[in-house]
Amino acid sequence: MRVSYSALNDYKTCPLKFKYKNIDKIGEPENAERVFGNLVHDAAEFMFSPNPLYPTLDEIINRFNKNFDEKKSKNGEIKLDDGLREEGIRIIKNFYKKNPPWNYNVLDLESRFEVAIEDNSLNEPCVLTGVIDRFDKLDENTYEIIDYKTGKKLPSQDDIDRDLQMSIYNLGLIKRWPHLKEKKIKLSFYYLKHGEKITTSRAEKDLEETKNKIVNLIKDIKQKERENNFPATPTILCNWCGYQNICPMWRHLYKKEETPNEAEIQQIIGEYLSIKSGETKSKLRIEELKQKIHEFMDSQKIDRIFGESGYITRTIKSTPVYDPEKLRQILEPLGKWSELLEFDDSKLSEIMEFLPPQTKEDINKAIVKTKETKTLTASNKKSIRET
Ligand code: SF4
Repeated sequence: MRVSYSALNDYKTCPLKFKYKNIDKIGEPENAERVFGNLVHDAAEFMFSPNPLYPTLDEIINRFNKNFDEKKSKNGEIKLDDGLREEGIRIIKNFYKKNPPWNYNVLDLESRFEVAIEDNSLNEPCVLTGVIDRFDKLDENTYEIIDYKTGKKLPSQDDIDRDLQMSIYNLGLIKRWPHLKEKKIKLSFYYLKHGEKITTSRAEKDLEETKNKIVNLIKDIKQKERENNFPATPTILCNWCGYQNICPMWRHLYKKEETPNEAEIQQIIGEYLSIKSGETKSKLRIEELKQKIHEFMDSQKIDRIFGESGYITRTIKSTPVYDPEKLRQILEPLGKWSELLEFDDSKLSEIMEFLPPQTKEDINKAIVKTKETKTLTASNKKSIRET
């Protein structure tokens, strides 16, 4: 199995997206965000490519404009407007000003790597692949991996310290150039929109942990493949997913015109949402009213109040709170303790995350069947089709 970091990332964010792209091999349609990201990445790569001299700022902007025009004419449906062009030029100018290329010792650009993931529990050879945007030598003992980001979000240092992408890149770098194992490797994300670089590093034990995480992810993927179970996982990231028009979470939005009984279902949706929204408002108001009623009863030292349309009674019930350890000591010798503890699968999924891989595997083997629960959640937000 060959898997790239971006495929693993897709799997973590939405298993169905991973399946569309990596198993069904359905090419992800372009969107403005991705096209823009690629154009800016290309400009940043060009900026550090001497031929034999480094390109001037004008040459970089000309290349960006030329590529932008080409993409715009090819992708009529994608909204590459002039606002996006201006944003790209602003980013390139700032990046050039802050990072004159002749000040850096760039060793490689778009550096490809492959890492064999060896683990006895994987039944086939697995190779992890990736591409590092830029790799610099800072001094005799210090090197730096740089990955460009064009998104708006600036993550926290904590997020970066735990980021899987950089751990994988660090592994890939050492695999490609093993002598760098002894050197200091800085791992930096450069957020081009903000002109901010956030740097982290990994110790050897972090890299071992990364390998375990990858093994677990690969096993998870293999298991899902056997069960043919790649659930759609809608999040805010759906806004940038090119598979919306085939995904069961979004397809209806794109194919309304073709759905049978559409008029009837529209009426049902309207009624359901309106009742649900009334229910939520009522629940909130009930809580407010309860609060006021309790306050009034407390102030008057009464437990029943009367109105024109009826009366409200308050009953007070005291429930004991036990010390679980003492309770266990009393009930266990009588063989009644286990009867008291009911199995709670939601608690199990909470602790799963913190269990060692082997224990997780043993627990997974104890699954006898999966039960399906269908839940409806409602949103009053209007959804707009991308195209
Ligand atoms: S649209 Fe959202 S839920 Fe559907 S495949 Fe893409 S990321 Fe997953």
